[in-house]
Amino acid sequence: MDRNFADIATALRLPEFTAGWVWLVGAGPGDPGLITMLALHAIAAADFILYDALVDETLLRMARPGVGLIFAGKRAGVRSCKQEDISNLLADLARQGHRVLRLKGGDPFVFGRGGEEAQDLARAGIPFRIVPGITAGIGGLAYAGIPLTHRDTNASVTFLTGHGADGQLPPHDWQALAKASSTLIFYMARKRAGAIAEALIAAGRDPQEPAAIVANATRHDQQVIVTRLKELGTAAEASPAICIIVIGQNVRLRDQLDWLTWAAAVTPV
Ligand code: SAH
Repeated sequence: MDRNFADIATALRLPEFTAGWVWLVGAGPGDPGLITMLALHAIAAADFILYDALVDETLLRMARPGVGLIFAGKRAGVRSCKQEDISNLLADLARQGHRVLRLKGGDPFVFGRGGEEAQDLARAGIPFRIVPGITAGIGGLAYAGIPLTHRDTNASVTFLTGHGADGQLPPHDWQALAKASSTLIFYMARKRAGAIAEALIAAGRDPQEPAAIVANATRHDQQVIVTRLKELGTAAEASPAICIIVIGQNVRLRDQLDWLTWAAAVTPV
């Protein structure tokens, strides 16, 4: 294949990144290869890139020389920029006629405040485009060899956060979840894993139900811990901070489908 990215972008008729616009783009869960063509196109064309801590920095090397790179994430748990400041900066840079890329981990509209940033832009009258990305709860499960759904195990999935706007576990309806939701996928839930397991068991879930913690998913240092619901809290304490928690019978399928470990045994990935 001797085509370069510009040829591919033209062949795919990717939209022009117009000056004065903000693109709110998902960078995928970690492995830079999981980025979309639209996201790569936006990185290559942007004048300014405001990126989060979960964005793989090798992607930023695809930016053009002289691009303004602005870190707008959390370091060591401390947010370096307030949400309001980020929204104002996006709007100001766009008004100055720049192509402004807001690059976020995973998918911008999944537990990532992308919706709030888009609302701020809409209120400010700034034109914007949303580019979805592979969210950690989907890409991470795939890299852990755990099908999100499988006819033998689960016909539905629920995505939840362990971290509400006030920093506490949100008041999920545990009775309803325990009964109706065969597979539960939690973001931002490591510190609340014990409380989540307790609430689900109290609501009738089997303490022996399989669960997994997928940490640093799709990155070179991905780590997967397979456990049982009753041991989830203890297992989570031993996990790296950035992780997805999955509870459900589909976790069992990893025994047969852990392709990444086999791939690593054959060739370095
Ligand atoms: N918008 C992002 C989620 C942002 S919330 C997305 O769609 O993926 C941040 C949470 O996402 C983290 O606390 C963690 O629960 C999860 N997360 C993001 N990247 C991850 C990764 N590579 N591995 C495991 N969990 C990840």
